[in-house]
Amino acid sequence: MRKEHVIYCNRCGRQLKGTDGTPVEEGLHVEKSWGYFSGKDGEIHSFDLCESCYDLLVQDFQIPPEKKEQKILI
Ligand SMILES: [Zn+2]
Repeated sequence: MRKEHVIYCNRCGRQLKGTDGTPVEEGLHVEKSWGYFSGKDGEIHSFDLCESCYDLLVQDFQIPPEKKEQKILI
């Protein structure tokens, strides 16, 4: 488990998670460990996006993200 800390949307700076780890709103977390065949060999990049910034990001996609319905909603 990674240590909880305040998480901000990297694009707009909105707070996604509070100091106590309570989610303020749901967001997207991306973490990429770049490998040998990239120009960033050995670097781990990560960022978070809020839902509205995620929507703006995928609007620019030539091919939209795959969507599946969740079978179980808790
Ligand atoms: Zn945002």
